[in-house]
Amino acid sequence: MSMSTAVYMTSSLHNILVTEILEQGPMNVERFMAQALAHPEHGYYMKQDPFGVDGDFTTAPEISQMFGELVGAWVADVWVQMGCPSSFTFLECGPGRGTLTADVMRVTKAVPGFHSAVHIHLLETSPVLKAKQHETLSAYKPVWHESLDAVPDRGPVIIIANEFLDALPIRQFQKIGKGWQERMVDYNQTEGFRFVSVSSDLDISDKAPIAGSGDVFEFSPVRTEMFQKLCEIVKANTGGALFIDYGHLKSGLGETLQALYKHQYTDVFDHIGDADMTAHVDFDSLVQTAKALDIYVSDVIEQGSFLKNLGILYRARALMSKADEMQKKDITAALHRLIDSDQMGSLFKVLGFHYGYPFTLPGF
Ligand code: SAH
Repeated sequence: MSMSTAVYMTSSLHNILVTEILEQGPMNVERFMAQALAHPEHGYYMKQDPFGVDGDFTTAPEISQMFGELVGAWVADVWVQMGCPSSFTFLECGPGRGTLTADVMRVTKAVPGFHSAVHIHLLETSPVLKAKQHETLSAYKPVWHESLDAVPDRGPVIIIANEFLDALPIRQFQKIGKGWQERMVDYNQTEGFRFVSVSSDLDISDKAPIAGSGDVFEFSPVRTEMFQKLCEIVKANTGGALFIDYGHLKSGLGETLQALYKHQYTDVFDHIGDADMTAHVDFDSLVQTAKALDIYVSDVIEQGSFLKNLGILYRARALMSKADEMQKKDITAALHRLIDSDQMGSLFKVLGFHYGYPFTLPGF
């Protein structure tokens, strides 16, 4: 088989996708994103630890311990409002390096009865990150799951997920004339990868807002299904859940699929399998999903407001009172990064839901 030099020089995943498209025709964005992130051998999350200075991106728990401490306070408050059950499931979805749960566990040491009641479950598909989580969390004897089907149905549950939903693949649709077509990834030797629109097996006309020709609408069946299962777990077992992610409050138009490679945005077709790939979370559609199941769902608010409502300014002040000049600078920088509108404070949104208790969800 003859291959152009350009193809030969690129990643093996690139070649696998080219072959699939040439054999089977254009693939939808869902399959493209799923392969880029989760191809068993070459997918981004299957191969590497993406975080930190040498990685591709950083997340709130990796920026500062304050984030995990406040989420820990949220979890403890919810557990107390549940009547301090003597046994409960704590599930983190997509725990990355395990930093968030480690901070939650550290801060809840001060809550009498919490540690003897908690059973930690982690939803994770990446072997590399599972190994990291093992290093961070093995003292707490977590149980790992690759799918939600194996999470036990026994007693109350508290779920947290930070930057998890954005990693779940989306489908894209484009208004062409009066109708919607699905945006697909095609390939040819001269142009390389490119988007094309073709007719789709999924009719999204009842989901999409009013649009003009050329507009793109994103919808994620995978994310919807995952979120719905999490709602069902809480409904069947009682409890509460917290989701933090970047995204929009109202279902809208626009293309948000993005790739990050070594802390820089890059074309989604460059570095396939070596760059992180995400899409904004449509929080409005999550709210609708929870409401359809008669679950109490919070307002969706900005991360900056949520963290301030939970007392991040006091926490920062307390940390500063024991810090040297260098540490004070770090704390201040992290604080601004987490809450300022021009940083993570506004783009990141927070959603909570609960079932089975007369809760006041903290932070909202
Ligand atoms: N919550 C962490 C990591 C966010 S990155 C933090 O804030 O730092 C996304 C995480 O979700 C990674 O741990 C990744 O391996 C995991 N992940 C992605 N897709 C997944 C899936 N389908 N099922 C389970 N985990 C998944």
